[in-house]
Amino acid sequence: MQPHARRASVTSYVGHVPVGGGQPIVVQSMTNTDTRDVLATVAQVGALARAGSEIVRITVNDAGAARAVPEIRARLDDQGIAAPLVGDFHYNGHILLRDYPETAAALAKYRINPGNVGPGKHHDTNFVTMIEVAKAFARPVRIGVNWGSLDQALLTALMDENAGRAEPLPAREVMIEAMLRSALDSAELAEKVGLPHDHIVLSAKVSNARDLWDVYRRLAARCDYPLHLGLTEAGMGVKGAVSSSAALAVLLAEGIGDTIRVSLTPAPGAPREREVEIAQEVLQALDLRRFAPSVTACPGCGRTTSTLFQEMARDIQAYLKAQMPAWKERYPGVEDLKVAVMGCIVNGPGESKHADIGISLPGTGESPKAPVYRDGAFVTTLQGDTIVSDFNRMLDAYVEARFGRGGASEGPLDRSAGRVELPTTTG
Ligand code: SF4
Repeated sequence: MQPHARRASVTSYVGHVPVGGGQPIVVQSMTNTDTRDVLATVAQVGALARAGSEIVRITVNDAGAARAVPEIRARLDDQGIAAPLVGDFHYNGHILLRDYPETAAALAKYRINPGNVGPGKHHDTNFVTMIEVAKAFARPVRIGVNWGSLDQALLTALMDENAGRAEPLPAREVMIEAMLRSALDSAELAEKVGLPHDHIVLSAKVSNARDLWDVYRRLAARCDYPLHLGLTEAGMGVKGAVSSSAALAVLLAEGIGDTIRVSLTPAPGAPREREVEIAQEVLQALDLRRFAPSVTACPGCGRTTSTLFQEMARDIQAYLKAQMPAWKERYPGVEDLKVAVMGCIVNGPGESKHADIGISLPGTGESPKAPVYRDGAFVTTLQGDTIVSDFNRMLDAYVEARFGRGGASEGPLDRSAGRVELPTTTG
């Protein structure tokens, strides 16, 4: 398989957002507000959407939440926030979707967990009720299996069947098979009831990377539905970010996954948008999508004992992030920009040459000069107290010249054609 070659899947439309079929991998997220609190939910959906969440899921867990959904949608529309809303249903989704048609209409997709739609004979009846609503409103569904709420009747049946084998499979294998069967059998039932094939997205989330790889590789081999990818209960902070990144990256690199969510537990008071930022960084690190210019910075070492280099790398990253909302409109393609901020002469000039524009700061004991490279060639040396502001001015000029109207706009590796001519600053 080619690196990043995408698995063939059908395309499912969640509102205006295409998922699957080789379309760009979609970043989504989920609110943690009480959905009945319309203002708080609208504010958080808005923040997530502005951060780059292309689809936002909200829990719809009771009648009050169901009643709030149409108003949430209307207020978002009034604010020009177009991100489609997905309703997350557990236990009572068949009742809420049936009793609140305006809610069903306001949502762009319904997430159904086949592990808790109802016990015994109610299981299929309740599931079919939700599928009938999806059909009536022409909405796609995500059949979202989670091993924390796996269909216990199905798991027990498969365990019993396994126990009767001459050579029983390990319990883990039975568990994985139960997850796959829960998702695939539910999808089959949905289609039997009349939901179109391209109105179904599947997920089967677990909380361990290796288990996730096994589950999704098998799921991808057994169906062509778009797959929603995520490590469930990834945890907090660095642990959550790294666990999610490691788990998702392997599958994405194999072409598995059409939409992703990073299920990060936020620290109390921390912004929910962090999970969107991490999802974007994962896709950008894999060269699957680009969302913002990248800054290459070395880790620093004993050769750079001042904090100038760390502060500069931080400030440039923050500056680029702050500019992006305006730059995206004004400078099409600016997300491809690559900037290098390096700590000393060892790797500084080399790495700067690989970037579109790069600076190599003076390390400890080196002459206090900072050579700047643009499009792979040395252009000037900065020095003195104004190194940072001088470099930022050169960065602005580069962006204007390359990505502004009439800019050269050459690819990052094509350094010969359409070369950007800029005034140089001599230090
Ligand atoms: S580029 Fe220089 S300062 Fe940065 S890690 Fe390498 S040797 Fe250290």
